[in-house]
Amino acid sequence: MGRYARKKQHKGDKPLKEKYRTKRKTKDHDQIHEDMKPDKAQKLLNQEIDYDRPGAGQFYCIHCAKYCINEQALKEHFRGKPHKRRIKALQVEPYTQAEADRAAGMGSYIAPKSVDVQTQDNKMQEDIG
Ligand SMILES: [Zn+2]
Repeated sequence: MGRYARKKQHKGDKPLKEKYRTKRKTKDHDQIHEDMKPDKAQKLLNQEIDYDRPGAGQFYCIHCAKYCINEQALKEHFRGKPHKRRIKALQVEPYTQAEADRAAGMGSYIAPKSVDVQTQDNKMQEDIG
């Protein structure tokens, strides 16, 4: 992208309806931060075969809370923009009550830490196949 890449001019332009639509609603970022904890992530990445889910639940992206139909699709997804956007959004520590208290003058304010978020490696999935 060049230096003068197109900027989004109208951030609030989307109709409210779109913002609150629930059809494609996935998990909230704080829920995903929960899922990123190693033991939980392990479980999510090694799900039992469930034919009700896309790809039988074997190709899951933790960060987007999304199932892909096969490994190819999952890899494509990792390369895609929505995924990268999501990774970036998740790099900010989830908002906590403690932070709110600090911001309100109780204790010293500490800016939210950034979390190192990386695309999961799908070695585990390769082992299954
Ligand atoms: Zn993703």
